[in-house]
Parts: sequence; structure tokens; C-alpha cells
Amino acid sequence: MQELTHYINGAHVKGTSGRFADVMNPATGEVQAKCPLANAEEMAQAVAHAAAAQPAWAATNPQRRARVLMKLVDLLNRDMDKLAEALSREHGKTLPDAAGDVQRGLEVVEYCIGAPQLLKGEYTDSAGPGIDMYSMRQALGVTAGITPFNFPAMIPMWMFAPAIACGNAFILKPSERDPSVPLMLAELAEEAGLPKGILQVVNGDKEAVDAILYNDVIQSVGFVGSTPIAEYIYGTGCAQGKRVQCFGGAKNHMIIMPDADMAQAADALVGAGYGAAGERCMAISVAVPVGDETADKLIEELVPRIEKLKVGPYTAGNDVDYGPVVTAAAKANIERLVQTGIDQGADLVVDGRDFKLQGYEEGYFVGPHLFDKATKDMDIYKHEIFGPVLTCVRAQSYEEALGLAMDHEYGNGTAIFTRDGDAARDFANRINIGMVGVNVPIPVPLAYHTFGGWKKSVFGDLNQHGPDAFKFYTRTKTVTARWPSGIKEGGEFSIPVME
Ligand code: NAD
Repeated sequence: MQELTHYINGAHVKGTSGRFADVMNPATGEVQAKCPLANAEEMAQAVAHAAAAQPAWAATNPQRRARVLMKLVDLLNRDMDKLAEALSREHGKTLPDAAGDVQRGLEVVEYCIGAPQLLKGEYTDSAGPGIDMYSMRQALGVTAGITPFNFPAMIPMWMFAPAIACGNAFILKPSERDPSVPLMLAELAEEAGLPKGILQVVNGDKEAVDAILYNDVIQSVGFVGSTPIAEYIYGTGCAQGKRVQCFGGAKNHMIIMPDADMAQAADALVGAGYGAAGERCMAISVAVPVGDETADKLIEELVPRIEKLKVGPYTAGNDVDYGPVVTAAAKANIERLVQTGIDQGADLVVDGRDFKLQGYEEGYFVGPHLFDKATKDMDIYKHEIFGPVLTCVRAQSYEEALGLAMDHEYGNGTAIFTRDGDAARDFANRINIGMVGVNVPIPVPLAYHTFGGWKKSVFGDLNQHGPDAFKFYTRTKTVTARWPSGIKEGGEFSIPVME
């Protein structure tokens, strides 16, 4: 049995707490590795190395820091297939999807190569008589991030790339479900020239998270994961005086207007609803067709597409549409929520409950499900299912559809499918959700824009990546400077005194 490690001060270090988590192969249900779960002492060791290494890194000019990231981009491309394979093996997503996970993280590393430009300060000449004023962005010091299982490459890179570009040291506490890729990323960063101690990986669970939250040296905490944990980390971290940003769960609605191209909308929904087995925070989990005629047409287009979906392990080739969900517990939770949908009266139009894959009976595969005529009081509508389950809630008007999305507690992403520019514009303006797609089902902003939801999908003020990341990972210092007048007309021979 493979025993994974931490990555501390440039070396793979065995866990010493005696506690481990099983890393499963979701396709077979077998334990494939043991992940060490750090205690506070192990975390403190990593923090001490980070604190020792960080001042010299912050004093390294930003262009040199950016060169390390340039090299890291090359290495990520060199090892793309290896990273994608390791990612699929632990997460279960298909290989092309795993490569996409690495790619969307790599793009943020590319963006952070612009650090010298992004970190430039502000200057006011002659703010007063003989007075100049300037502001500079300085690194925070030791920073930390806690990441979810569903994007084990992308989300760590969204955090550590801007953190280290700004001159911080960063401690990553990845998900204990799929820790191998984060460990590989730390190794690659060091191969790219990053000094030891600047990017470390400390594996663990709540104990390691609490060790981060209560460590006085750590200045900031980034978190991505489910909303209850986001709330806990935000509350605890802020109370400890840290800068904290937490990104939580989602229930993303797609509004389908009567004038939408129904085939295009159905194609988009199938990819956005079932891709990665629905385990994406930007997955569409609720379809809201406007009018019964639209709904009937949409269901008619959707059903054959869903029935054709190919579910299988990533090893079965690139035509697999999605793989298993991450754990037996995740599968059981999906099955439980599907049952509530049936019990509470929604129509289960596509029933994936009996799905079995020969040779993989112990894997965590879940067949695709489609509910129609769900209502907003049902559990399948209120809760994040995080599985291959699409729920259709029919609305009788555009205003009703808009109201549904606005009233939901989550506000990560949403989309409208229509040919009507006026409706699309009204939707984009009025909706209280952070990321909006117009005929685009998964509107994940690119690296140079920022990523973040509203409402219970976020806790904190600044978004991920883009210019916000450079604000989150730096503190502003403003200097007001006046220099006494110097010698301009010949030498002065008596000792100067201030008047
Ligand atoms: P999770 O909340 O279970 O775990 C996230 C991290 O928190 C992991 O590192 C885990 O070890 C740690 N953790 C778990 N329990 C903890 C506890 N009690 N105390 C302290 N730390 C704890 O989330 P997950 O299942 O890994 O990821 C799926 C969730 O993440 C979904 O809700 C999804 O919507 C969300 N997500 C959100 C975004 C976003 O940007 N908003 C992106 C990806 C995923």
C-alpha cells in the first residue's frame, strides 16, 4: 500500500501523527494509498520553514519571481499527461477533463507572470509642498489555502500562483481524497526554481485546518469547498485576525426562454449537468424552462441525449462522458436525495438508479438522472446534490424564472439561453449571482478576470484570480515623504539645524 507524504521544506516527509485517510480508487472502490493527516506540530514545522524562507523570497525582485512561474508553465505542459493520469486515478474524472483541470490552473500561473506589472504601486508627486506620497503592495508573509477534492490541480494553482508571485510563502492543505497532484505541483514548482519552504503541502483533515486557523504566524487563509465548512473557516479565521476568503457550494440555474435554440440548450445542459459526474461548483443542476411548451420540447431533446451518455472509468478511453463520483459516501448522499425527489413528488424522467457497470460493481458510478416538474420546496431543489442529477423546475414566465434563481440561497453561477438580447441583458443586470452565462452554460471567467459567487457561495470581499488575487495576497502600505531642502547653492560649512 502506497503511503503518501507531506511536502515540507523541499522534501517528501512522512506523516508522524499516526493518523491516515484512505485514498480510494473511485472506479473500483479499492483503497489505493494512505494519506497522512497532520497534527498541529507537523503544521507548525511547515510554518516555521515558511517563515524562515519568505523574507528572502519577498526581497527577490518580482521579475525573477515571475521567471520561476514561467518555468513552471513549461513543466506543467511537459508533465500534462502524467498529472492528468494521477488526477483521474484519484478523482475519477475522465482524462480530457483532468487535463482541463490542470490547464485552467496553468492559465492562472500564466496570468501571475504579469506580477511585476500587477504589483506596481501608486505615486502622487507633490501631494503637498515638497511632499510626495506613494503606495506599495507588500507580501503578507506566510499564507495558507484549503482546497476541495473536485479540482485538485486548478484550485491549488488559483491560490498558490498569486500568493507566491506576490512574495508570500504558501502552505497548501489539499483534499485528503486526492492529494497526489498537489504534491506533484509542489515538486514541479521547486524544479522550476522556487526556493524550499515557499510552497509546502501539508495533508490533513479538520485537525490540520484548525492548526492553520489558530497559528498566529499565518496571515491569510483561502478556502474552497462546501458552504458549512466555508462558514466555519471564515468565522474562525476572521476571529483570529486573519485575512480570509472562502468559496462555498452552489445550485446553478439555467433559464431556457421559449425562443432558445432547444437543441443547443439541450446539448449545453447535458455537458454542464453531467460532465465530471456533476461534481463541479459551476455545474448546472437546475434547468428552468419558461412555459410548458418550452419545457416539453426541452425534455424531449434532453432524454435521448442523456440516455446516450457513456459512464465509465477514465481508463476506458476518451469517449467516456463521465466517471464515478468520488466516494461511497458521496454516492450514498446522491441516492438519498434522489429518493427524496421521488418521495416528494417530482417526475423521475430518466432513472439512473439501476446503473451497473460490469467489472466495476464496487466502483462509485451513478447513472444519469433527470427530474421534471420539481418544485422549490423539494430537497432536490434546495440542496446541492453534487452528482449526475439534473432537476427541471418549470416556470410560467421570465419573471418567475428570474425570481427562482434570485431567491435560492446559493449564487455561484447561472445562465440564460435565449435569442432575445433584451431578455439576456435584463437577466445579466438584475440577477444576484456572481457569474452569468448568456448562451454559455458554464461561465467560468478566464484567469485575467475574477472568479467568485454571491450569497452563500462566498464569504469574504475579494474574488479568486485576476486582479483581486493580487489584492488578497498583498497589503498596501502608503508612505508620505518630505525631504528637507538640500544643498543647491554651494557648500554649507556650519552644521545644519532644523527650523
Ligand atoms: P469539503 O467542504 O468537504 O472539503 C473542502 C476542504 O475542507 C478539504 O480540504 C477538507 O479536508 C476540509 N474539511 C472538510 N471537513 C472539514 C471540517 N469539518 N473542518 C475543517 N475543514 C474541513 O468540500 P469537498 O467535498 O472537498 O468539495 C465539494 C464542495 O466544494 C462543493 O460544495 C462544491 O460546490 C464546493 N466548491 C466550490 C467552489 C467555488 O469556487 N465556489 C469550487 C469547487 C468546489
